[in-house]
Amino acid sequence: MDLKNTIITASFERYLEGLQHLIFPNVCLQCSYELSRFEKHICAFCWDKLQRTYFEAYEIPSGMDQLFWGRITLSETFALYFFEKEKPIQDILHALKYQFKAPLGRHFGEVMGKAIFNSNKYKTIEALIPVPIHPQKRFLRGYNQSELLAEGMSAILEIPILPDVVLKKANNSSQTRKNRFLRWDNASEQFCLGKRDIPYRHIAIVDDVITTGSTLEAMAQLLRSHYPDLQITLLSFAIAK
Ligand SMILES: [Zn+2]
Repeated sequence: MDLKNTIITASFERYLEGLQHLIFPNVCLQCSYELSRFEKHICAFCWDKLQRTYFEAYEIPSGMDQLFWGRITLSETFALYFFEKEKPIQDILHALKYQFKAPLGRHFGEVMGKAIFNSNKYKTIEALIPVPIHPQKRFLRGYNQSELLAEGMSAILEIPILPDVVLKKANNSSQTRKNRFLRWDNASEQFCLGKRDIPYRHIAIVDDVITTGSTLEAMAQLLRSHYPDLQITLLSFAIAK
C-alpha cells in the first residue's frame, strides 16, 4: 500500500512538474533555450562559453594576487571566471544584480564553493564576509548579490557568514566615470565597522565582480586596521581580465 502511494505521489509530482514546465518554461538565462531537468538557470552550452580562471590550482601568483601587490597583504585570492564586456559573463552578472535572481546567486555561490573545496589554499578560512551594499539599495533590489554568493559558498564549505561586520556608509554615485586614484579615495570612505566582533583568525571577503579592486582594498584595509593579525582572503565570482 505504501509503495502504491509512493508511486502515485511520485507520478503526481512528475505531472505537476511537467505542467509547471509547460506554463513557465525553464529557459537558459543567456540563450533562452529550454533547460533540461538537470540544468539550473544556465544551459551547459552557455556555461562552457564562460572563461574559467582556475586560480584555485595556481602554484605561482595569479593576476588577481598581483592586482593587490603593494596595496594590501592578502592570504589568498580566488575568482571563478574572467569578466569581459560584451561577453555572456556580462549578462549573467547583470542578471545577478538586477533581475531578482536570488536562487541564481546562491547557485553561483555553490559553484564557487565546489571549485575551491578541494584546494589546500582555502582550507583555513573560518568565515565569510560579503561586501555590503547600502541598506536602501538592498531594500530596492531585494537582496545583496554578494550575500547570496556567500550563502551558496557557506552551504558547500560549511563555514558561517558574518553579516553586519562591515557596513556600507553612504549611497555613493556611480564610480564609472572616475579614474583609479579618485575611485580609491572614494572607496576608502565607503565602509565602517559594525558592532559585531570577528572571533576568527582567517576570513574571506566575498564579492561578485572585481575590476580595479579598490572597493575590496578599502574593505580589507578597514578590517586590517582594527584586526592587525587577521588573515584576509578574497573570493569573487568574476574578475576583469
Ligand atoms: Zn544557454
